[in-house]
Amino acid sequence: MSAQPNRADLEALWLPFTANRQFKANPRLLAKAEGMHYWTHDGRKILDGVAGLWCVNAGHGRQEIVEAVSRQIATMEYAPPFQMGHPLAFELANRLVELTPGDLDHVFFTNSGSESVDTALKIAIAYQRLRGEGTRQRLIGREKGYHGVGFGGISVGGMVNNRKFFGSMLPGVDHLRHTLDLEHNAFTRGLPEWGAHLADDLERLVALHDASTIAAVIVEPVAGSAGVVLPPKGYLQKLRAICDKYGILLIFDEVITGFGRLGAPFGAQYFDVMPDIVTTAKGLTNGAIPMGAVFVRKHIYEAFMQGPENAIELFHGYTYSAHPVACAAALATQEIYRRDALLTRGAQLAKQWEDAVHSLRGLPNVIDIRNLGLVAGIELQSRTGAPGARAYDVFLKAYEKGILIRFTGDILALSPPLIIEPKQIDELVGTLAEVIRATA
Ligand code: PMP
Repeated sequence: MSAQPNRADLEALWLPFTANRQFKANPRLLAKAEGMHYWTHDGRKILDGVAGLWCVNAGHGRQEIVEAVSRQIATMEYAPPFQMGHPLAFELANRLVELTPGDLDHVFFTNSGSESVDTALKIAIAYQRLRGEGTRQRLIGREKGYHGVGFGGISVGGMVNNRKFFGSMLPGVDHLRHTLDLEHNAFTRGLPEWGAHLADDLERLVALHDASTIAAVIVEPVAGSAGVVLPPKGYLQKLRAICDKYGILLIFDEVITGFGRLGAPFGAQYFDVMPDIVTTAKGLTNGAIPMGAVFVRKHIYEAFMQGPENAIELFHGYTYSAHPVACAAALATQEIYRRDALLTRGAQLAKQWEDAVHSLRGLPNVIDIRNLGLVAGIELQSRTGAPGARAYDVFLKAYEKGILIRFTGDILALSPPLIIEPKQIDELVGTLAEVIRATA
């Protein structure tokens, strides 16, 4: 494809979560990546403010990953995962469960966040049945939740556009209210004080349906895709306590918060709340090869290991579960995280990050700023009759000015690679400030 692709060359591809016709009229093509930067098809350097899509936590072009993947693909490109194994899968599992808190010490491999979510929901329901609580089939998600795009994920998810086109979805799903409240919490630095009581929605659902019908609750510790929605102080602790009271499993969807985004390996550690199941993907392999992982606590795994030894314990899995090339990428990634102490780097940079993003307060149309670890959401006042248009303008102008950001509705999201240098934080936020002014 030439430096200036013509429209016909772009026609065959249907891009996901994209305004295709608009994109094809003004395409944005990335051709190369290294460290904190992308280079566009026509050679412009772009500072990556979103770690690709919240996944390239160790930065781009890591040679260790390149070499591990090349070596593995040359040695054994594929191994069947059913009734068979390969050493890297066990090595990776052992390594990962060292990172997880408490007894979250068994791991099931998938290929994406969406698959991790489906896997977690299925394990939760099957676990309840195995322990003699087969009536526990209801699942509870949360408004504004994003749990990928499988039918399970959109059913427990709470973003209207991801749901409304796709029929009636899974039966027996309820939603807690979301915790975003600009009236009480706008411009809070870190976790909001107001809103822990919203966890009591779970008590109301128990009163409505009875605990004996509820299998699990799934939430993102910090909701990313809906625009960086933070849990109020004490909220997750409260949710945990209510789950304990009624025998409901608590699933943390850590596809974004896993692998260092908050300055701890997982959100579970950051918040000091112990979930029963954790879903991950993205940062697991630094985005280099698709892979997801679901962690379960010991008692859940053990519940599946009670039947006859020759019986398959879980009728679930993927052709590419524990794909050898993905395992190689993940192992190399985890080694970089360990060696460069990246999973806690967010904690060191958090204060500078917070100060930097909150310096955007007072700019035109900025109505809220939310931050934690190395993630931030900047909410803009929507233009009358054109929701999302303002953030889209900022996104385009930012790309023109050399920074990549995300937007959802009129919320801008930042989540840079964890290798970001202090001066690059200033560059990212400084450029964004210019763009917000210029587009006002
Ligand atoms: N869960 C959460 C919390 C996510 O942020 C995402 C992706 N943004 C997913 C699930 C889905 O992951 P994937 O796109 O890899 O299927």
